[in-house]
Amino acid sequence: LTAGANPFQDRETGRRLIARIGEKLDRLGATERKPVRLMEICGGHTHTIFRHGLSGVLPAGLEFLHGPGCPVCVLPMGRIDDCVAIAEDPRVIFTTFGDAMRVPGSKKSLMQAKADGADIRMVYSPLDALELARRNPDREVVFFGLGFETTMPSTALTVLKAEREGIANFSLFCNHITIIPTIRAVLDTPGMMVDGFIGPGHVSMVIGLKPYRFIASQYDRPLVVTGFEPLDVLQSVWMLLDQIDRGVVEIQNQYARVVPEEGNPQANAAIDAVFETRPFFEWRGLGSIDESGVAIRERFARFDAERRFAVRSPAVAEPDSCQCGGVLTGTVKPWQCPLFGGACTPESPVGALMVSSEGACAAYHQYGGLR
Ligand code: SF4
Repeated sequence: LTAGANPFQDRETGRRLIARIGEKLDRLGATERKPVRLMEICGGHTHTIFRHGLSGVLPAGLEFLHGPGCPVCVLPMGRIDDCVAIAEDPRVIFTTFGDAMRVPGSKKSLMQAKADGADIRMVYSPLDALELARRNPDREVVFFGLGFETTMPSTALTVLKAEREGIANFSLFCNHITIIPTIRAVLDTPGMMVDGFIGPGHVSMVIGLKPYRFIASQYDRPLVVTGFEPLDVLQSVWMLLDQIDRGVVEIQNQYARVVPEEGNPQANAAIDAVFETRPFFEWRGLGSIDESGVAIRERFARFDAERRFAVRSPAVAEPDSCQCGGVLTGTVKPWQCPLFGGACTPESPVGALMVSSEGACAAYHQYGGLR
């Protein structure tokens, strides 16, 4: 924790919370050999935990497991190969968020395709891509849409805007994924060890709390929607331990200053207007998960890059020894992967968990966390 003006990083409050977490763990009889295991679903929380050194100052009876909530990390190689194929079409200006540039495909990343001459441009929002389409009417501008419900509304609103303005040379390569089937897949993983979930803050701003209720009612696990400051995470850890201590299982909202219980109805309306659920979607390291992705509705087919370009989404096996799937489901620690820090580093990633700063392997590598 850092001293400074930010009240959510206050050292003294942090110390008190850590002491109270220790008391709870003692009451629960948790030890290093028999810890309480909490999974942070969102890569933003993984980043907070390591950046602020939380795993190093918390008692050994608590173990963090790092979940599949970094959308860059779960992009399968076949979809990256599709991106490269679209981007190498000479008619195309391919636009993407910067963090997807280095994700390895089976032959090359978007960064390498750009070095080879493809017209690939980094943008900060889908509206930037739409503006490029306006300014380049003789080119096909494709936006690489990815992310959970957090980024879906802005993509959906951009497609609606393109339709309203009759922009014919803009399309979306849709790789948006949904959080609820993903959590269910984690809960259904054989050997699942999660005692409670640190719930995603940004996704919950859109979907609200209700969709998480099945975690408590069907799987008997608590979840606390959590903010991204270190004290947010510490408070949520205490709230989860408190539930376990009291023998209750609930969905709670630690991040109420930002997350409304009912989510954002306007954002959900935009999502529903433009997207429909896919029967299944392939995830890097996790395989196919039913109803875990969305596609563009028929009404907006002319904005769908999958229909406008030859997209094949080939199934590509992960490299030998890669343990990304185990890390994503919390059954393997990054440092247990034989490639960690050797063949796989942030400078030369083999798996996508080493690419994004929100990926568990990149966080372990950068901050040297060992548990
Ligand atoms: Fe995947 Fe690399 Fe992490 Fe191994 S070290 S699990 S290959 S990202």
